[in-house]
Amino acid sequence: MLIALVALGSPTAQARDRIPLPKPRPAAAPQPVEDRAAAGAEQRPDSAEPAGEPAQQSAPAQAEAAKPQPKPPSACRLALTEQIAIAPSIADINDPGGCGGTDLVRLEAIVLPDGNRVAVTPAAILRCPMAAELAEWVRTDVAPLATSLESRLAALDNFDSYECRGRNRVRGAKLSEHGKANAIDIRGLKLTSGRMVSLTDRASPRAIRESVRQSVCDRFSTVLGPGSDGYHEDHIHLDLAQRRRDYRMCQWDVWEPLPQIAPLFPAPRPDEAPPREVAADRPPERERSREPEPAQPGQAEPEQAQPEQAEQAAQPASPPVATKKAKAKLRKPRDDRPSERR
Ligand SMILES: [Zn+2]
Repeated sequence: MLIALVALGSPTAQARDRIPLPKPRPAAAPQPVEDRAAAGAEQRPDSAEPAGEPAQQSAPAQAEAAKPQPKPPSACRLALTEQIAIAPSIADINDPGGCGGTDLVRLEAIVLPDGNRVAVTPAAILRCPMAAELAEWVRTDVAPLATSLESRLAALDNFDSYECRGRNRVRGAKLSEHGKANAIDIRGLKLTSGRMVSLTDRASPRAIRESVRQSVCDRFSTVLGPGSDGYHEDHIHLDLAQRRRDYRMCQWDVWEPLPQIAPLFPAPRPDEAPPREVAADRPPERERSREPEPAQPGQAEPEQAQPEQAEQAAQPASPPVATKKAKAKLRKPRDDRPSERR
């Protein structure tokens, strides 16, 4: 009341000098910039300001209000805590050619339920859902496998994650899921013992490779490995591509531990091996060439029978008739071959 009376009873300029607070409502005179800043939002709502100046004044404020508003974290981001993975968020990527993505993270390590960390080497740039699925896979499915090898999982060998490229690096091919930060290529699992378990090496324990195959095909919509298309013989490709009717692709042949290619020549027959049946078919010829002395007619029969019996005992599964035929087949070309071989 007092202020009001004073304000009414004296000239405006005088009142401003005498009474610093509260600041008078903006009248004809424009306010200094500092005052505007100091007054801030408190003065803005009354919107009694003239139309000219305030337009410039509120535009940057609005821009500021719009800019710093970070996108609310996705449900995935909220769920991917540091108890599950070390995966800081990174800025959206908008590369040419439609590459990039939003809700991206840099997956540096996966935290196992026991607190141990599995490094992702190098760190993978992935969309949050892909990173989360990968983390759950390692925590739930892969870590126990390492335990079965009497070791612990130390690292995941990341061969490739985000990369703006066509499928299989083929020019002009459809954009790879790698270009959408929705895929990762993995070569192997590194154990704390120092051992590297390659997922595509026949020498790696087959049971491990089978288990990994099963688990990734359960989780990811695309799994490509050896035997798929020739581009994935040394790594496994995983992604979360969305397809019509939720079509999933699981193409990974877990090779046998031993080479599937037959050796070029059969192993040489040991000298101590009993004579083959085919050899026994023409004993007179061999005996003649070796020892020209006449065969003992009485013992000829048992001598022939003995090796045959021995061979039958050694190979009980194969019927003698079939063996004879097969060996006869083998022998036939061999007779023609010597001239070619030498
Ligand atoms: Zn790939």
